Order: sequence, then structure tokens, then C-alpha cells
Amino acid sequence: MCLLLGYNNLMPIQILPETIASQIAAGEVVERPSSVVKELIENAIDAGARVIELETALAGKQLVQVADDGSGIPAEELALAVCPHATSKLSRAEDLFDIKTLGFRGEALASIGSVSRLTVKSKQASSPTGHWIVVDGGKVEPVKTAAAAEGTVVRVENLFFNMPARLKFLKSDVTENRLMTGLITRYALAYPHIRWRLVQDGKPVFQTTGSGKRFEILQSLFGSQDSRLLMPISFAEKEMAIEGYISSLSLTRSNRKDITLFVNGRWVQDSSLTAAVIRAYNTMLMVGRYPVVVLFIELPTDKVDVNVHPSKAEVRFRDNDAVFSAVQRAIRRGLLAFTPVPDLNTSLLWGQPVSEEQFNTLSGEPGREPEGTTTGTQPAVAEQAYLSPEHMPMLRLVGQVARTYLVAEGPDGLYLVDQHAAHERVLFDQMMAQMRAAMVPSQALLEPAVVELSSEKAGLLEQNLPALKNLGFEIEGFGPNAFIIRSVPAIVAGAEPREAINAVVNAFEEDETPLAAELEAKVAGRVCKRMAVKAGQVLTEAEQRNLLLNLESSQSPRTCPHGRPTMIHLSAALLERQFGRTGAI
Ligand code: ADP
Ligand code: MG
Repeated sequence: MCLLLGYNNLMPIQILPETIASQIAAGEVVERPSSVVKELIENAIDAGARVIELETALAGKQLVQVADDGSGIPAEELALAVCPHATSKLSRAEDLFDIKTLGFRGEALASIGSVSRLTVKSKQASSPTGHWIVVDGGKVEPVKTAAAAEGTVVRVENLFFNMPARLKFLKSDVTENRLMTGLITRYALAYPHIRWRLVQDGKPVFQTTGSGKRFEILQSLFGSQDSRLLMPISFAEKEMAIEGYISSLSLTRSNRKDITLFVNGRWVQDSSLTAAVIRAYNTMLMVGRYPVVVLFIELPTDKVDVNVHPSKAEVRFRDNDAVFSAVQRAIRRGLLAFTPVPDLNTSLLWGQPVSEEQFNTLSGEPGREPEGTTTGTQPAVAEQAYLSPEHMPMLRLVGQVARTYLVAEGPDGLYLVDQHAAHERVLFDQMMAQMRAAMVPSQALLEPAVVELSSEKAGLLEQNLPALKNLGFEIEGFGPNAFIIRSVPAIVAGAEPREAINAVVNAFEEDETPLAAELEAKVAGRVCKRMAVKAGQVLTEAEQRNLLLNLESSQSPRTCPHGRPTMIHLSAALLERQFGRTGAI
């Protein structure tokens, strides 16, 4: 920008007037009304509040008010509290590595005061009266005395009145309101012992009892139907504890927005931690689908750096791998307990609702290492013909029925295997293993094929050529929006290459920003789906036997890469019951 303007057009260097400087600083902390809400509720939590009430008007542009019953601010410190870099939470540089409060930068009140009319009214228990102070567009007015309830009320009026550009940049009122509701519900979930209340434009829209039970709050966040498909997990290992909720395979979303992560009581939006969560689901979810997850991760304060970004939404772990792998183990353990082979008698165990008691065991004994599976799910699993999580039993082939299913006998009854889903899983595992070893066998086409795509699809393909190369596709640009396909992965060799490419491009279209590893899995999933044997296809006995054998060696034999079950189990007990043999002489 400077270069374009030319040196002569630049103004001489000068120190910015205080008000402009603080408005610039404010921009980093206060982006929109929900960022004001976040700072204010964090202050209330830090002050030990048991009750936090939030009131907003006109999507926060006219009013954001947070009232708490916390410790309050001493009268003589009110003026200081609204100054930049004034904090009671940190005094020495070393403290930065041992942060136990949500705030520590001493920036929020000053920043908010420079872009609104801010009133802070507070009373400490020990003080006979309350005090209040106003900061109007950065101008601090004298402290006054007034009657007040114990605690603090922070009132933010006319947010961004002096920053019209910011106002214009805000989304619709509906969206800004939704952001605030989402924020407060999530904090309510993280702090269930606090009583929360949210009033928007005079209407109460959210309220909790402060009972410490998370289930009721989960329902307001996800609706009662979806929250029944969430399962509590609780995991502890060395210095780390992970609690929260994870969705079963039957509850997914088209994006990762419902993955909510708290680290030491702080809501963080961290893409690598989110990726670790998604990876824990590995290939059990349909491609392009994401789980619903709420995790509360606790670890020693010196193992995590929260001072990465002014909004404090990013964190850095001292040992990324340790945290990521603990998160993955916690989720996997929960999932394995939750995805047994569906049994005909209780076919809906696949998405078995979890009872309220089961949910509430979460608030039970934190820090205890669960044995093998999550306590909360054991009742549901106990009745199952429960397979060891990673493997399936050896099956003896009986035959093919309806040209669609294989019938097999196992140690405990009968198994019906969906030949298409099972083959998809087998091909997918092969392809992923080859990819990990960086040796996907690729086959050159005798006649290279040319595909033409819409410019949007061409852009997507172009962007993802490197990922496709790892998968064994050799593709080059061939004029505008056209590509020439020279080689394809060996398993696709029999198929029409243009069709394979179309399937692949559709996979790219489903998600805006998949991560490299996810993307490869997704493309592999697409390719395998296309190449797997179809329902209605007759298989020779050798092919049937091979399919079962290959499935046995899979790491996740019970689902196809898109998350559908590959098999259904009719247990010996079920057969006996159905034939009325139980108890018969
Ligand atoms: P920080 O939270 O980073 O310390 P803030 O600008 O958010 O910075 O707040 C400045 C100071 O004002 C805090 O350190 C705290 O002492 C005091 N304060 C702010 N809000 C409250 C509140 N709701 N209850 C008690 N004290 C508060
Ligand atoms: Mg603060």
C-alpha cells in the first residue's frame, strides 16, 4: 500500500493521538458485540460469580449489559480498571506462564470504553455503598457513588458509535444475536454451576438453573433430539483430564462448527485441535460429514500458552502431540463403546438414546481413569453381542443371498454382511495403507483421457492436484478448464476415468476447507465407493470368501468409510428367543 501511494503522499511519522491508538487496539479485542459479551462474561467468571445475567438490545449495538454477583471492584480501583493494561490478575512476567484466570491482558474494559459508552457499577461486600464510572468514547469521567447490589454491572451502550466502518461490517441482527446466544450457551455448558440468564430485546431467551447438570444446557444448545445422540466421555491420563460429549455416528453435520473445545475453561477455536478431534472419528463418518463434539480439556497451566492472540481464542500447547493423542484416545474409546455391531433385536442401538442418568455420571468423579470403556455407555452395550473393538470374529462363509448379502456363521450366531459396504471398507483400507506408505500403485492409461469441467470445478481440481497425485492420479492442465488424465490408481483402472474424476471433484465441493489428510481420505472414500462391488452383483465363492477374509483384517470392519454398518448380527441368544427355544426342554 505504501509503495503504491508513493513516498511523497505519506504524512510525516507522528505518535497517534491516544484516542485513535486505543481504537486501533480495541479493534483487536472487540470485533463485534459477541466479543464484548465474551470479555464481560469472562470477567464475571473470574470474579467468582454464581449468577450471570446478560441483557442485549438491537443485537448488542444499542446495549450489552452483564450483571454478576461476583467479588466486585473496590471504589479506588474503578478508574484504574478501565485504563489500558490495568489488571488485577497478573503482575509479574512469570505469571504469564501460569494463568489461572480467563482474563490477564487488562485490555477489555479500556478497549470497550474507547468504542462505546461504558458504565461500570460495582459494590464489594465489605463496602457500605456502590460506585460507578463512565467512559464515553475513551473519555473517562469521575467516579460517583450510588446504591448498588453486590457484584458488578457493566453496561455497554452504542457500541461502535465512533467507528462507522465497524458497524457496517457487522452481520444481520439475527446472526449477531445467534453468535451471542451460541457464546453464552457454550459458556453455560462449561460453567454449569453458574446460573445464567440471557434477555434479548426484553425477551428471556435462555436460562439455566446453576445445578451443575450439563444435560439441560446441552439440550438448549443442540435441541433435545440431537442431544440424545450425544454420549458423555470422561478420560484422565497423567496430568490431563478430558470430559465432554461426542456424537454417535448417526449424528453429523456438514461442517465443523459444532465442534466446541474448551481448554482450561476457555473456549478456543484452534484448527489443529479440531483436526485431531475429526481424525479420532477417522473413517467411521461419512465423507464430508463432521461430528458434534463438546470437549473440556484440563491440563496444567504451564503446559499451555494462552497469550497467543488478543482475543485469547487460540492456544499453544507445550506438547501438541501429547494433547492431540490424548484427545483422540478419549474420543475413540467412547466411540468404540458406542458402535457395536447392530443387533436385530435392538436395531436402534446404533443411535441409542442415552438416559439422563447416564449423562449425569459425567459430573461424577472427574479425574478417574475409566476402565476400558466410558462408564456412561456400559448399560447400553452390556446387552450387545459385543465384539472386541478393533476386530471382528472369524466368520465361516455360508453363502450369498439376494446377490447383495453374504451370510456367515461366527462364534455367536449368524452374520449378514452387506457386500457393497464391506468391499468399500476393504478397498478403502487398502488405499489408505498404500497412501500412508506413499506407494499407491498407479496405472498409466493406454489412451490419456481429457475432461472438461465448469470453471468452478476446474478451479477445485487444479487446487487439489497435489493431493490427487498422492492418491495415484496423474493429471495435468490441458487448456482452460480442461485436464488430461494420464494415470489413475490401480484400483480404479477398470473404470471410466472421467467418471472417477467427476466423483473426486464432487468430493472437493462438499466442504470449503478440508485439511489435506481429510481430503485424501474423502477422495479415497469416493473412489472406493465407485469401485466396490455393487448390490445385485453375483460373486463367486472365492470372491465371497476373500471379501470376508479381507474384512477381518480391517481396523474398522464394522462400518464402511461412509459410516454405514457393514454387518448385522443375529446372536445365538436372539435366534433361540425367536424360535421359542429359551427355557424349552
Ligand atoms: P483483565 O480481565 O484482563 O484483567 P479487563 O479490562 O477485562 O482486564 O478488566 C480489568 C480489571 O477490572 C480486572 O483485572 C478486574 O480486576 C476488574 N474487573 C473487571 N470486570 C470485573 C467484574 N465483573 N468483577 C470484578 N472485577 C472486575
Ligand atoms: Mg477481562
